[in-house]
Amino acid sequence: MSLLVVGSIALDDVETPKAKVEGALGGSNTFISIAASYFTKPIHMVGVVGEDFPKEHIDLFNKYDINLEGLQIIKGGKTFRWGGVYLENFIDRDTNYTDLNVFENFNPVIPESQKKSKVVLLGNIDPVLQLNVLEQIENPELVICDTMNLWINIRNQELKEVINKIDVLIINDSEAKMLADENNLIKAAKMILKTGPKYLIIKKGEHGAMLFHNEDIFSAPAFPIEELHDPTGAGDTFAGGFAGYLLKTGDITYENMKTAVVYGSVLASFSVEQFSTGGIEDLTEGKINERFEAFKKMAQF
Ligand code: AMP
Repeated sequence: MSLLVVGSIALDDVETPKAKVEGALGGSNTFISIAASYFTKPIHMVGVVGEDFPKEHIDLFNKYDINLEGLQIIKGGKTFRWGGVYLENFIDRDTNYTDLNVFENFNPVIPESQKKSKVVLLGNIDPVLQLNVLEQIENPELVICDTMNLWINIRNQELKEVINKIDVLIINDSEAKMLADENNLIKAAKMILKTGPKYLIIKKGEHGAMLFHNEDIFSAPAFPIEELHDPTGAGDTFAGGFAGYLLKTGDITYENMKTAVVYGSVLASFSVEQFSTGGIEDLTEGKINERFEAFKKMAQF
């Protein structure tokens, strides 16, 4: 089953306590699409890059069979660039800059053949663009959406409009509290569920993820990782693994979403072990399932 992904495609300058990289491949769409490609095909990538976007990255997308018909390459344009520094705890980070560049005038155009997509993943990107994409899709069965603190702050109204139209919202714990203006996470989750989405996933970094639906709560730990290198994109990778598994199984029930949350966490655990997309490149079904089984054993009692 196909997955349509909209989101950023970026060149990142990232510094963690381990090392520093410049111009590394990043962006929400990048991590989501590669992670989802281990579970389902085709993946339709909708986004924009500048003429400076290295060909090796396009080759990488092709390697994962990502369909680039909806990827605009702007002549003379500069690719979206994000710079961030992680603190000693590998969780908190300061954003040095967010250079929108080609995103400033981006008008997403969904190719005709993709307008009937049944599953859409709105990766972290300006909610105005997320709305624009939703307007072009005819009757999707499942819309999953990710966002970040920046948009809660500067596009609050538009973001709430998006949240009202989607099925699954994926957000981290501090963002959930900020969005609901409530310090208790469970209360915040219940408040958010009342604003539109049927399902809410709250990511808690190294403490795992929680899935909320009506009165039900499922909680999964994070896979314990000793060699953390770069948390950038872990949340997006989680979303890609989650959506990919739902599509692979063709089952979008709450019960199956629990397993999808675990697959999302497994993919995210690979992502943080290396910089940029290094940790999620060249995975195999065997490697993914081995970690999934270890995860199951760890959480059973
Ligand atoms: P995450 O660590 O899951 O928050 O994702 C980090 C990725 O998001 C990086 O590769 C950035 O390029 C990208 N990113 C950072 N800020 C933004 C933004 N405002 N809009 C879209 N993508 C962003």
